[in-house]
Amino acid sequence: MKNLIEDIGILSENEACETFKVTQDENTGKNRKLYIESYGCQMNFSDSEIVAAILQKDGFDTTSDIYQADVVFLNTCSIREKAEQTIRFRLNQIKGIKRKKPDMLVGVLGCMAERLKSKLLEEEKIVDLVAGPDAYRDLPKLIAQVDEGEKAVNTFLSRDETYADVSPVRLNSNGITAFISIMRGCDNMCSFCVVPFTRGRERSRDPHTVVAEAKDLYDKGYREVTLLGQNVDSYKWSADENNKARLEKKEAGDMVTFADLLRMVAQVNPDLRIRFSTSHPKDITDDVLHAMAAHENICKYIHLPVQSGNSRILERMNREYSREWYLGKVSKIREILGEECGLSSDMITGFCSETEEEHQDTLSLMDIVKFDYAYMFFYSERPGTPAAKKFKDDISVEVKQRRLEEIIRKQTETALERNKLDVGKVYKVLVEGPSKRSQDDLQGRNSANKVIVFPAKNYRKGHYVNVLVEDFTRGTLIGKAVE
Ligand code: SAM
Ligand code: SF4
Repeated sequence: MKNLIEDIGILSENEACETFKVTQDENTGKNRKLYIESYGCQMNFSDSEIVAAILQKDGFDTTSDIYQADVVFLNTCSIREKAEQTIRFRLNQIKGIKRKKPDMLVGVLGCMAERLKSKLLEEEKIVDLVAGPDAYRDLPKLIAQVDEGEKAVNTFLSRDETYADVSPVRLNSNGITAFISIMRGCDNMCSFCVVPFTRGRERSRDPHTVVAEAKDLYDKGYREVTLLGQNVDSYKWSADENNKARLEKKEAGDMVTFADLLRMVAQVNPDLRIRFSTSHPKDITDDVLHAMAAHENICKYIHLPVQSGNSRILERMNREYSREWYLGKVSKIREILGEECGLSSDMITGFCSETEEEHQDTLSLMDIVKFDYAYMFFYSERPGTPAAKKFKDDISVEVKQRRLEEIIRKQTETALERNKLDVGKVYKVLVEGPSKRSQDDLQGRNSANKVIVFPAKNYRKGHYVNVLVEDFTRGTLIGKAVE
């Protein structure tokens, strides 16, 4: 349990097993090699695909071997202190490689680059280049600058960059599931969160480019897309206006909302599944839930982070909803989409001044909602955030860890309980590839995002297979294919 908690202090439950993802080998005869390690959230993995696309046009092939690379990028996360420590540790390891390959360019991209800017060049001598999330079009120029013997920095945050016209190079892809970024930045000011400072103002991408990307992926054999944004429910787009304040004043019919976008992507092909992340409890609308209900290919799964089950703490977190509001949303989801709709959450324990009773409120909310998954963290103060400025980080690490341990234990029990309910049911599974444990088994997900493993027989990656669930573990359903 202790290791799990330490890992979860850095990354989410899934991500903890796999601290970073690297580029795949691609040899098209270009003269330089690019290697990217991506840390943190799905948004960062998606951004690395944009970076690879931009540099592919500038004479780079990708490599999975850091020793072969001419350019090494770490696409970083700043969300918790440990995420940044991980990067500093990795830079130290890379120092040894650079000693043997002095011409190798080392760059830091993403949230840590944005947060620390040129300070990173002073603190980490090995770093040649620093580029924030909105500066990736500038990378060819920044690399040229380093080639000329200078250090290079661009951490300019844009109000309209969405990389809408960049067709991402799919990295680490199973060829079946892909991410599509639909918006960038975040205009919420959750008091604990560094994202508004590292990713800038919220802006939505032209929906026609989103649909075109989904179509292109379908034609290439992909069968599932995940629409990504920090707060997808506040997606808003209009052809003649990209100012969010003015957009918000528009009539519903004059702009494309997230529910509209979901319907547009759902019509690409009934065999293309659609997922999305992340939903914000204050913004998810009944229209979104009705769009999900109306289209079989929009997956019945919502990641709806609650953070805390106590209204006073939620107010301090500036989440703009209360415990009651959250529970009301969950009831609405159950009413429109039924009990089988998958629900997951993020949770933070030990936020500033959280009492034992308030922590108990988080546990009791978990008992009421019964999440299928949860990504659980203890609070990590981030410099410059409203919470760091206004509140004292006054819960000891021991108490934070013990509370985290309690919510993890609760979630483990609930996941087992929820999975038990699936035994005897038949689910349509999109096959993603061989199971992790055996080449004789395949694995995929049902609409509710549960991983299901079953004997491969003649089925293959990309097939939809009806699977009868016969057994389960905490994280997996086990079954067999049925007609
Ligand atoms: N935009 C999403 C949302 O609002 O739910 C997620 C953003 S963040 C990348 C993912 C999760 O990290 C958050 O939901 C929160 O639980 C956690 N997180 C953010 N800041 C944190 C902090 N300072 N300490 C601990 N966990 C944090
Ligand atoms: Fe951070 Fe809140 Fe924005 Fe999510 S919604 S990215 S937690 S500020």
